[in-house]
Amino acid sequence: MKRQRIDKCPHCNSDWGVFVKMDLINVPKNLNFDGTDAYNGEMYDNAEKIIEKPTVYCQKCGKAICRWDTFCASNDIIPF
Ligand SMILES: [Zn+2]
Repeated sequence: MKRQRIDKCPHCNSDWGVFVKMDLINVPKNLNFDGTDAYNGEMYDNAEKIIEKPTVYCQKCGKAICRWDTFCASNDIIPF
């Protein structure tokens, strides 16, 4: 049985998008010798481990929409 696609927030009807919360482990932060931030554009690519929080939230209202696996199954997304 095909699930119904989740294409908007059930709380505020926004279709802006969603976010998931992730814990990034051992993300290297680049600093200069004077302590100021250096280029960190790819810092998250270098995290040793990413723990995904299994809840999808609305970008507009911030409320929880569904579980991440439900979102992926409904929208034909391959979980990252
Ligand atoms: Zn919303």
